[in-house]
Amino acid sequence: HYLSNIKVHSDLNAFIEVYGTQALQKADIIDLRIKEKKAGKLAGLIFGIKDLICYQDHKISGASKILQNFESQFSATAVEKLLQEDAILIGRQNCDEFGMGSSNENSFYGPTKNALDQNKVAGGSSGGSAVAVQADMCHISLGTDTGGSVRQPAAFCGIVGLKPSYSRVSRWGLLAYASSFDSIGIFSKSIEDNARVLEVIAGKDEKDSTSSSREVPAYSQDLGNKSTFKIAYLPEALETEALQPEIKAAFEGQIASLKEAGHMVEPVSFSLLDYILPTYYILTTAEVSSNLSRYDGVRYGHRSSAVSNLESLYKNSRTEGFGAEARRRIMLGTFVLSADYYDAYFTKAQKARKLIKEATEKILSEYDFIIIPTTPTTAFKLGEHTKSPIEVYMADLFTVQASISGLPAISIPIGKDEDGMPIGLQIISAAFQEAKLFAFSKNLI
Ligand code: GLN
Repeated sequence: HYLSNIKVHSDLNAFIEVYGTQALQKADIIDLRIKEKKAGKLAGLIFGIKDLICYQDHKISGASKILQNFESQFSATAVEKLLQEDAILIGRQNCDEFGMGSSNENSFYGPTKNALDQNKVAGGSSGGSAVAVQADMCHISLGTDTGGSVRQPAAFCGIVGLKPSYSRVSRWGLLAYASSFDSIGIFSKSIEDNARVLEVIAGKDEKDSTSSSREVPAYSQDLGNKSTFKIAYLPEALETEALQPEIKAAFEGQIASLKEAGHMVEPVSFSLLDYILPTYYILTTAEVSSNLSRYDGVRYGHRSSAVSNLESLYKNSRTEGFGAEARRRIMLGTFVLSADYYDAYFTKAQKARKLIKEATEKILSEYDFIIIPTTPTTAFKLGEHTKSPIEVYMADLFTVQASISGLPAISIPIGKDEDGMPIGLQIISAAFQEAKLFAFSKNLI
């Protein structure tokens, strides 16, 4: 079923590679295991992975020319854990190069298209992973979320997208973009599926020293919680000029129905909203310029043939291998880390990060959740913003707050605009409160 859907929808460009034969063989083995009652708890779940997540002896490229044809020698811990529970891996999914983008247009393999309107973007950077679930090409996908890359495409595609707390899921086997932000996240159609997958992939991993050793709750068992909650929303977000009126209306409608259902919903002013996006882009470009320095044409990946000395080897391999957005961010990051500008930009952004994190945590010490639209607009037209990177960065306006603060956040579909494009609601909770996040979301969709 899923393999034929992948074929039918090949023009959406969601998959870079499909493991057809291998998936069918695995399905036969699992079929037997089910009959013998020895199957793992995700037996029969079909999943795909973003091309930033390693799968042993298979290609991984970060949707970049610089890693084309590179094969990983090991699997990401999250992948390993799903396979151990007998989930079936069906393929590798398209994304923005190394996770940098909000429309999947920065991929070496070309953009992924939104299944609801092929002239519109899927969102990014995990666009392929979102569309694969949207168009029923797999049950769930593993994406990565540094500043919104699971939540934003989930909103554009009308599905559920979770970014867990930072450190909840091991980053082992995830190609690094901005290491202090990167999280593996989950796309699904239902809250139940998302919860079942998180309870398998979360937990301490010796291979990632930053992974949390907190106990992993039985997320999928906790979904019956029908408590009423204290919820905050940020009035400044609703005054944002870029906010599409239909999203504002859907959000206000949601506030009204939450109140009707007995929840307490209150506006809480957040004066730092304007600083979130610059802080995010200064810190992540700094981290990415450092993380991408490993792709030097020497150890692995693309090596230029126009080489006369060591410097031209580095320079030409990287110039030929990286796309325009990756190069832009390497330059920006190198600039903000350079001796003359380090204090003015990098140190300042680190201070701003601390303030944003503390202000957000303060709200969440008084309220169970913060709700905010996932995105200021619904999915835009392919090519609409390619000339202006800043316009594309604006798509992350509401998602980076949880990323800067390391908090879990989920996007769920709450309606459609006049063109039938989905609208997402984002719910943020305090760190490691995923169980509460799932239970609350489950009552909304
Ligand atoms: N769009 C954001 C960026 O380009 C977020 C990407 C992500 O979460 N990987 O940085």
